Amino acid sequence: MNNNNGAGMEKKAVKGEKLSFKCKIQDIPLTRKELKNLLHFHIPCLCCGMEMLHPDIYSNLLENHALYGNASDVISVLEPFEQIMHPVERQVFNMFKSMSVKYPNKNFKELLELKKDIHELALVKIQSIIFNKISFYRRILPKKTARQLRKLMIKTNDIIFDPQPHKPFSRRIFIHKLKNIIKNIENKKIKTEILEIARRLPRSSDEVCAFVVKNTRKRPEVIALNLIHPSVGTFEHLMPKCMNGMNNSLNFALECSYCNNSRHHYPISVQIEENPYMPQNAQIQAEKLISLSKKGLCKKEYIQNLKKVLQTLSDEIICLDISRLDA
Ligand SMILES: [Zn+2]
Repeated sequence: MNNNNGAGMEKKAVKGEKLSFKCKIQDIPLTRKELKNLLHFHIPCLCCGMEMLHPDIYSNLLENHALYGNASDVISVLEPFEQIMHPVERQVFNMFKSMSVKYPNKNFKELLELKKDIHELALVKIQSIIFNKISFYRRILPKKTARQLRKLMIKTNDIIFDPQPHKPFSRRIFIHKLKNIIKNIENKKIKTEILEIARRLPRSSDEVCAFVVKNTRKRPEVIALNLIHPSVGTFEHLMPKCMNGMNNSLNFALECSYCNNSRHHYPISVQIEENPYMPQNAQIQAEKLISLSKKGLCKKEYIQNLKKVLQTLSDEIICLDISRLDA
């Protein structure tokens, strides 16, 4: 996860102003400022449905020196945000709360270090079960592919079974390499099966053990910010920037920083594969936006365009019902 993302939104905004001149100003339903302002109204993420935090509130946190202190000081700063924390982050926060009673003078990093070994073992256990399942496919894959898979699995096992690996295991890089290896397999069913198994590899967002292992390497104030960062609202480029997606609200959806970062430049259909509830969550966000538009806080045109773009880019998987907009 990129820790600079709260500020990243600002950076994107500055760069984007130049590009947005390609469109006529009157065609763009909301300015960046207007779209960002919507985040003051508890908007749920388009993809995961979790409530998002306004990026300015996060930026203020970045300047809060109490985050450098011991756990109990940091806990009192973060307490107001407990409700918007994602589930794993909230669990870790509660772990910090109970540990800080016993170790009042330790900071977040020192507390994680106390827990690291046990969580690392738990993580490796989950990972190795999944790697075993993937390795099984060597028996049924074409020879060349099986050889490549064997190589990848040996390298991966070397990383996860080494207590001090040169480079930590990355789920994202692993899945990317795996996709490359199996891309030419003709049997689509086997291909999907292998990827489905690989996607079960824990992310720091879905297993406390993965969060602890990843964050023990970070500085204490970064660990504190990582509890909040996934919830920060961002502009998701529905058509990725690298595919010439526009840099304005015609191409922006409000998404939490976690979902935005985990999509990278993949198509929305891939994002839905990883997040099967995305179509329902997108509908919940649309309902919220429609309610805001009834109060004059969001333009109708933004919602109508969002429906159109989502429908096209998701191969018609996301078909928002916005009939209430004109009711
Ligand atoms: Zn999300």
